[in-house]
Amino acid sequence: MKYFIKTYGCQMNINDSEKIKGILQTQGYEPATKEEDADLVILNTCTIREKPDQKVWSHLGEIKKLKSKNPNVKIGVCGCMAQRAGYEIASKMPFVDLIFGTKNIHNIPKLLEDVKVGNRAIEILEEEDPLENILDSYPTVRDNSYCAYVTIMRGCDKECTYCVVPFTRGKERSRNPQSILDEVKSLVDNGVLEIHLIGQNVTAYGKDIDYPFYKLLENISKIEGVKRIRFTTGHPIDMTDDIIETMASLPNMVNHLHLPFQAGSDRILELMKRNYTKAYYLNRIEKLKSKVKDITFSTDIIIGFPTETEEDFQHTLDVVQTVEFEQVFSFKYSKRPNTPAYHMEDDLSDEIKTDRMKRLLEIQKAITSKLMRRYENTVQKVLVEDKKENTYIGRTTTNVWCNITSSNDILGKEVEVLITKTGFQSLDGVVQNIL
Ligand code: SF4
Repeated sequence: MKYFIKTYGCQMNINDSEKIKGILQTQGYEPATKEEDADLVILNTCTIREKPDQKVWSHLGEIKKLKSKNPNVKIGVCGCMAQRAGYEIASKMPFVDLIFGTKNIHNIPKLLEDVKVGNRAIEILEEEDPLENILDSYPTVRDNSYCAYVTIMRGCDKECTYCVVPFTRGKERSRNPQSILDEVKSLVDNGVLEIHLIGQNVTAYGKDIDYPFYKLLENISKIEGVKRIRFTTGHPIDMTDDIIETMASLPNMVNHLHLPFQAGSDRILELMKRNYTKAYYLNRIEKLKSKVKDITFSTDIIIGFPTETEEDFQHTLDVVQTVEFEQVFSFKYSKRPNTPAYHMEDDLSDEIKTDRMKRLLEIQKAITSKLMRRYENTVQKVLVEDKKENTYIGRTTTNVWCNITSSNDILGKEVEVLITKTGFQSLDGVVQNIL
């Protein structure tokens, strides 16, 4: 029996798919290279915005044809869209055999038993399952041999009014720290160099188990063989001085941070229920810049939240210009079902949102170009993750992709690279030293 998983959305979904692959392999399934060759096709979905929802509906339309050609193939849908709209999928797409939400991935073996005997299996838990920790005991099948995602917590207790995550992923649940440390140890023993800690709000890690996030960072840092530690995503309000000091002091902590600010205007931030002000956000950035050597930032921005005026938007542009992010992920606001803001009038026209987006991107383009030029003729530490033809590919500690020329085999190694050329999104360089 072969499986194929198509993953939409964020790193949490990627890591969930890696876990699902591990569970399927314990059940005797092997990976297929394409949908057409699989006995079980699973779509791991995202519902954060309207576009990913539409992609899943249209992909399901395509998969229906697959089922008409081969009636024995089983179709599954999981992830955030399944959690939010699983019963709607079940009624509109009667050919889907398996639907499960984000809180019961560990129940896949039981659900598959039902599917195998020809039943339809649908399980969407509203409450968190105390047995969810069983997940930690299943293997994880990863595509990247050198950089590994490690989920440290699930869910989110914040109530940002535009965000569907608290509805789809539930309350914050921190993973047992020893289980995380064991996983990290086993990863480095198997050749992984970079540990990327993930969760909906990792900076809130440990609040429910009285084990602060900075302590987890310290303990991971001590594991021999951990070359790099990253984490995504944090909330500015939980970015405490303790975490900043720890980031500054650990030798294997990268000097890059993704810290969403979403909007620059205090009035809009309040409507979004982000619980901080523009001044507070800029204070955290200042502190990070003063403590962590050469740190760079990326962020998320929502454009055109209900009632956003031109003056509000100017505050967003001001933050962009003050911080000088290396990368900005900006999105035009669209209201999502099951969010508090769903009941607010989405009063800005698409024309206004598009115009603001265009202006923001122009400013950001100039900032990125300026920051990228700073890398020219510098020596950067790069962790080499891949090789395409004769070029090695890796990331700097500041999370910039780098194409490297080397006569030695440097795959899976950390190297010092002299940057010879800077592009808009990537760097070119030659190896100076293998570390
Ligand atoms: S912090 Fe806010 S935006 Fe992030 S997952 Fe939680 S509710 Fe959503």
